[in-house]
Amino acid sequence: MRVIVTGGAGFIGSAVCRHFIADLGHDVVVVDKLTYAGNMASLALVASSPQFAFEKHDICDGAAMAAIFEKYQPDAMVHLAAESHVDRSISGSDLFLKTNVVGTFTLLETARRYIASAKKNADDFRFVHVSTDEVYGSLGEDGLFTETTAYDPSSPYSATKAASDHLAKAWHRTYDVPVIVSNCSNNYGPYHFPEKLIPLVILNALDRKSLPVYGDGSNVRDWLFVDDHARALGIILATGRPGETYNIGGRNERTNIEVVRQICSWMDRLRPNDASHHELISFVADRPGHDQRYAIDASKLETDLGWRARETFETGIEKTVQWYLAREDWWRPLRNRVYGGERLGLVGA
Ligand code: NAD
Repeated sequence: MRVIVTGGAGFIGSAVCRHFIADLGHDVVVVDKLTYAGNMASLALVASSPQFAFEKHDICDGAAMAAIFEKYQPDAMVHLAAESHVDRSISGSDLFLKTNVVGTFTLLETARRYIASAKKNADDFRFVHVSTDEVYGSLGEDGLFTETTAYDPSSPYSATKAASDHLAKAWHRTYDVPVIVSNCSNNYGPYHFPEKLIPLVILNALDRKSLPVYGDGSNVRDWLFVDDHARALGIILATGRPGETYNIGGRNERTNIEVVRQICSWMDRLRPNDASHHELISFVADRPGHDQRYAIDASKLETDLGWRARETFETGIEKTVQWYLAREDWWRPLRNRVYGGERLGLVGA
């Protein structure tokens, strides 16, 4: 299969490229604008493969997208390109509107015209639209998000992702574009940009800087190791049904403070110091509009398509800490030149 992967130079997109090329044998064409979050170093393992091609473009550029479809005649698109960081969306939401909403619209339109002009039918093409569980808003102490949970986004990021999901579903219903939507919980793992909680805490701990925890640390996220997400997307692409939505999650609910403490314990073991890393934890002002709890019911994906998460949070976090300790060559340039750990996303900031 020849697959266009938008956002392939990002955290999840690069994991998808590695999995699709090495494990599934797909040809991959990455379309990526290389924003601050895009990094060719994350594609180093596949960049020299004959199965790999790279196109540096903005997904909002309709002419460029049409030319790429014409050039590569793809069998599928897995759409991950997005502005993805909630805190940045609070500080400035305009790029989120452009990329997440207008960009998704541009790709849906490009796919619609491509299918029509190539006289393809719905079985000849797949458009996997990759989204987040944050579109569902916040849960209380009980319950899980299912595919039928009503949308109730809280942040500019999740509102733009919700808008893009609605566009994707509308292009299926109205134009018969063979769209499949996936909504996944929080990912973590190798190649994660250092502004996000888990890499930030690992790298700050390594530098013996304070470890910022928003609010009282009681917010719950349902963590999924990134390679499990990439495998889920491969399965959804191969066997998912157009028009369907699949929730993806690892049944690994943890409070933020539990996550930070677990990283500190690993750092104490792997980089022992006179003072425990736990002493670096510092509670800071909460994120505005901070959702309290996310948790995914992934039984549809598990039952209908046979996917299962392979990593528990315990096995995944160990691999992640070990990876960051071994791969300073990957993260040091980002910490020095792109993002040094400063607080983002306070209203008025
Ligand atoms: P990321 O920020 O690491 O990567 C995004 C990639 O998109 C980057 O390579 C960037 O250069 C590219 N990009 C941004 N704007 C673009 C544009 N206008 N044109 C072309 N390329 C552009 O994001 P991620 O964490 O890998 O997330 C990927 C997708 O998965 C997003 O759609 C996100 O909403 C979704 N998702 C993420 C998570 C998570 O926990 N990270 C969970 C569920 C869903």
